[in-house]
Amino acid sequence: MVKAPFKKFQGSDAILICVGKNALMDYDVIIVGGGPAGLSAAVYARRANLKTAVIEKLTFGGIITTTDLIENYLGFPAISGADFGKAIQEHAMKYNPDMIQAEVKLVKDVEGGYEVQTDAGNFTTKTVIVASGAAPKKLGVPGESEYFGRGVSTCATCDGPFFAKKDVAVVGGGDSAVSEGLYLARLVNRIYLIHRRDKLRAEPILQQRFMSLSNVEFVWNSVVTKIEGDKKVNGVIVKNLLTGEEKELKVSAVFIYIGEVPQTGFVDVKKDDHGYIITDENMQTSKPGIFAAGDCRHSLTKQAIISAGEGALAAIAAQMYLEGRLKAAEELAQSSASN
Ligand code: NAP
Repeated sequence: MVKAPFKKFQGSDAILICVGKNALMDYDVIIVGGGPAGLSAAVYARRANLKTAVIEKLTFGGIITTTDLIENYLGFPAISGADFGKAIQEHAMKYNPDMIQAEVKLVKDVEGGYEVQTDAGNFTTKTVIVASGAAPKKLGVPGESEYFGRGVSTCATCDGPFFAKKDVAVVGGGDSAVSEGLYLARLVNRIYLIHRRDKLRAEPILQQRFMSLSNVEFVWNSVVTKIEGDKKVNGVIVKNLLTGEEKELKVSAVFIYIGEVPQTGFVDVKKDDHGYIITDENMQTSKPGIFAAGDCRHSLTKQAIISAGEGALAAIAAQMYLEGRLKAAEELAQSSASN
């Protein structure tokens, strides 16, 4: 993981502002989340001279820092998630946004903007860019919470080396399961890939590589019903969805990649049924002055390069909003599209 040289505000140090009728709006823009979307927004916001803070609860660089290898971000034919996270963090810091390590609890309406409440204090801002990403979804089966960190993991690059030459299970059939499975296959003895269908949804190039490995065994049409262990994981029970048959697989670890849950509970804007934020094409949410970008946004797919583009667009839209010219720019774009 990348350890960020961030500015840290704690306790009362964090309360920099007064909130109320004549509240001083401390920031032009507060960006919630320090992944590709948030840091890209920070670069654009600072280059527009906006007073900018990026608030991140975990790692500047975002969850992508836990990825083994990135091969589809233009300009980086092959880079580790950790190096990529470091590069984007350093790039953003070149423009000196305030980098605040804190967890955002609530974005509250106040006159003239918003108050962003965090566990390290509250900040006011004229605009907010929500780039808070998504967290790994849980299976919700017995043993999952109990053995988390003791064989149950959502991060192959963090925990994979502990299971060198052992048998492990990977659950899921998407890009995460397959790309992290490719990494694990180099370390472990055998991978059982447990998927609820008989077709992977991962990118074809990743599927081809994964299918060609000799130490991967596919457990199709199956779900995990229980994770077993004593002090650590020693097996999983899988159920075949076509036959109903249950069997035990002896494994030392279970890596769970079954999708994501957007981290958007702290902001009251329009969302889809899964909690992803709905925006217009300029990243505006249902509330004026609140924009969203990246994996927390309702969209066709989640890719780092798309997140970075969305972050840039959100920052440009926030700048136009602050200058009172966003509506006019949108109307101009609409009229030239219809001509
Ligand atoms: P994902 O694409 O949503 O795939 C989740 C997988 O888990 C699917 O195969 C799904 O099965 C399965 N699944 C979902 N819920 C399940 C449950 N309760 N029990 C068992 N299986 C379950 O998630 P992801 O792989 O984490 O990727 C998230 C996003 O990030 C995607 O947009 C992905 O493209 C992107 N991503 C991209 C890259 C890359 O570009 N290299 C790398 C990682 C992630 P079904 O197929 O049957 O629905």
